[in-house]
Amino acid sequence: MSVIYNRVALIGLGLIAGSMAHAMRRANLAAEIVGTARSAETRSVAREIGLCDRVVDSAAEAVQGADLVVLAVPIGAMGAVAEEIGPHLKPGATVSDVGSVKRAVIEAVAPHIPQGVHFIPGHPLAGTEHSGPKSGFASLFENRWCLLVPPENTDPEAMARLRALWEGMGAHVEEMDADHHDLVLAVTSHAPHLIAYTMVGVADDLRRVTDGEVIKYSAAGFRDFTRIAASDPTMWRDVFLSNKDATLEILGRFTEELFALQRAIRTGDGAHLFDYFTRTRAIRRGIIEAGQDTDAPDFGRSKPGS
Ligand code: NAP
Repeated sequence: MSVIYNRVALIGLGLIAGSMAHAMRRANLAAEIVGTARSAETRSVAREIGLCDRVVDSAAEAVQGADLVVLAVPIGAMGAVAEEIGPHLKPGATVSDVGSVKRAVIEAVAPHIPQGVHFIPGHPLAGTEHSGPKSGFASLFENRWCLLVPPENTDPEAMARLRALWEGMGAHVEEMDADHHDLVLAVTSHAPHLIAYTMVGVADDLRRVTDGEVIKYSAAGFRDFTRIAASDPTMWRDVFLSNKDATLEILGRFTEELFALQRAIRTGDGAHLFDYFTRTRAIRRGIIEAGQDTDAPDFGRSKPGS
C-alpha cells in the first residue's frame, strides 16, 4: 500500500486513534503520524510505546502542517477541540472524526472549520470495551464498516483519499446521511448498550442473587451484557446525551415490544414467543453470514477486537 497522506494528526490517543496509528503504520498509509492527548500521562505513555512518530503537547501544535486531522476524543469534547485547532489548520487539509454520533458532532465542529479545509465526518463501526493509549491494535477495523458522512459539495478528491485510508486499514466504506446514521446506530448500538447497562444494573440490585453467584454462574447472555456494560462511561454518557431523539424513539419501540412479550409470558402465549424468537434467530444468522460476527461459542471474543 502506498502513502495516502503525508502527515496525519490524531487528536486523542485512545482505543480508536491508537488502532488507527497501528493500522496506518502496518499498511504504510501515512509518512508521519503526529498525536496528542489531553493529559500529560496519556501523552507520556504514547511516547513510551512509540504509538506515533511524534507526540506533542497541544492539539493546535499537532495539526500544524497536517494533511489529515482526525478528532478521536469523546463526542462532548469535539467542539472545544475544533475551536482550538481551527486557526491552525493547513489550507487544503481534511478534518475528520470518529465519533459514534454524527449530527451533534457536525453541529459542534463545522462552525470552526475554515474555508478551504474539507470536513468529512466519519464513524468506524468497530470497538472494544477497552480504552486508553495501550488498548489499540492494528486489526480493529478489518472487515468492519466505516461510515463516512460527507456534507453536500464535498470535494471528490478529498473524499476519495479518506475512503482509501479506511480501506487501507481494512474497513469497508459506505456513505450515509447524518440523521440516518444516528437512527441506524441507535438501533444497532446505542439502545443495546443502554439495555445491557440496565440488565447488569438490575442484577447488581437483586439482593437475593449474591455477587458471587452472578459471577460464578454467569451464562453467555449475562456475560455478554457485562462485557458491553463495561464500556467507557464518558463515551457512553456523551452518546446518549447527543443522540437523544433517535435513542428515545428506539427505546419507546423497545418498551412496547417488551410489554407484548411480557403479556405473552403472562397469558401463556407460546406461539407468540416461538414466532418472535424464530424471527430474531434469522437476524443472528444474517449477521454471521455477513461476516460481522462468528458463531463460535464465545462469539470469537477471546481474540482482541472481535
Ligand atoms: P478513549 O480510549 O477513552 O480515548 C479518548 C481520548 O480522548 C483520550 O486520549 C483522551 O485523553 C482524550 N480526551 C478525553 N476527554 C477529552 C477532552 N475533554 N478534551 C480533549 N481530549 C480528551 O476513547 P475511544 O474509545 O478511542 O473513543 C474516541 C471516540 O471514538 C469517541 O468519540 C467515540 O464515540 C468514538 N468511537 C468509539 C468506539 C469504541 O467502541 N470505543 C467505537 C467507534 C467510535 P486522556 O487519555 O488524556 O484523557
